[in-house]
Amino acid sequence: MMKNLNHLRHQLARWHVQHNQVADQALLENLGRLPWILRLVVPLMAIAFLRAWFYPTHGVRSAELFFRLIAWMDLVTFIWLALLLWLMHLNQWSRRITPFSRSLPWVFTVHFVLLGAVISSMSPWTLPSSTMYVLSCVFVGTLFLLRPRWMLLMYASSYAVLFVGVEWSTEAWNIKETLRFHGGLSAVLGACLSLVLWRRYTVTELLRKKVAVQSLRLKAQNARLMQQKIQLKSLSLHDPLTGLLNRRAFEAQAEHALSRARRDGSGLAAVMLDLDHFKRVNDQYGHPAGDEVIKYVAGVLRSSVRESDLVARVGGEEFMVLLPGTAQDAAIEVAEKIRRRVAQSPVRMSAAEQVDMTISAGVAALTNKHLGEFALLYAAADLALYQAKRLGRNRVEVAETVS
Ligand code: GH3
Ligand code: MG
Ligand code: MG
Repeated sequence: MMKNLNHLRHQLARWHVQHNQVADQALLENLGRLPWILRLVVPLMAIAFLRAWFYPTHGVRSAELFFRLIAWMDLVTFIWLALLLWLMHLNQWSRRITPFSRSLPWVFTVHFVLLGAVISSMSPWTLPSSTMYVLSCVFVGTLFLLRPRWMLLMYASSYAVLFVGVEWSTEAWNIKETLRFHGGLSAVLGACLSLVLWRRYTVTELLRKKVAVQSLRLKAQNARLMQQKIQLKSLSLHDPLTGLLNRRAFEAQAEHALSRARRDGSGLAAVMLDLDHFKRVNDQYGHPAGDEVIKYVAGVLRSSVRESDLVARVGGEEFMVLLPGTAQDAAIEVAEKIRRRVAQSPVRMSAAEQVDMTISAGVAALTNKHLGEFALLYAAADLALYQAKRLGRNRVEVAETVS
């Protein structure tokens, strides 16, 4: 028993938290429904008023009193609801959360459920009937989304009005009991309906919020993945030390450049470069200093060619530059420019020390002999580089002159 009570307490506490989370949303939903409900109810109240006012009572005093009272209540209801509808048309406050707008659905529902209770409790004056209370309980239970705590209080107090009202309006115990019994059933029915609607709304709304949050999270995750993919792609294409193209990416792009050159007959030249006596740098200053030299030379290469040229690190301290649309003479000039720049700018190792670096280069321009595949052009440039090394380094040799 205690366990069950505890469970119920926990369940109610959980509901309370959930209801707080959707309360504002539910209010906006109610405010959205209100104008439509008013458009329906205002003409109905006008009809109800006319019907009650002109109801044939055949001179029966109590019936006359009953219908006059109902007519006045209908008229008051009609006036304030019509006023509310008019105000809603004038202003757009219906969609804003304010203490006033918060109270609107409650004022409306309390008014109707009390109206039903009063009419039914006075019905013994003419014909005992709980119909009006039944209708109002079901009507307000389904129209708005009502927080259970206040909704239960509302039904309980309207039932209390009916209970006391019946005591006052009739002496007949059987009529009293019937009206009270039917009234009680209606209040319970209305409360159950309202509770089911409210819970269903809460669960759906929370689920919707959860889905929205998840979808945002997924979007962010997706963006992160896309970024990682781009980074990975870049890593797979570039040499991590210098940021130049790596050999694989270079060869793939070189094939494209070659087929373009073949198609439109534009020239294409390759320059293969290798640092001279680089081993000595490593031996003298260590590998990290050697890395810095490689990075420095990579910078010289990049700044010496056009954006559209391809620059790659194809080996430890070997580089290759591919110059689309470039003939042999222009390629030699580029290679010379690079050689000169490297030779003329010693790499600073520390405040006191600097290394004089030189570079050798082999140039190969596209001829009919190399049209077949890039590997042939590559081999020709490599051969020219070997020649440059053989002839003393810090120089540029051309493949054509290499036998
Ligand atoms: P040369 O080319 O003029 O004939 O002489 P070299 O001393 O440059 O000869 P070689 O090409 O045989 O040596 C290249 C050296 O470059 C060997 C290797 O230790 C070094 N090396 C290769 N990759 C890297 C690297 O990533 N970082 C550093 N610091 N050194 C590297
Ligand atoms: Mg070398
Ligand atoms: Mg080498």
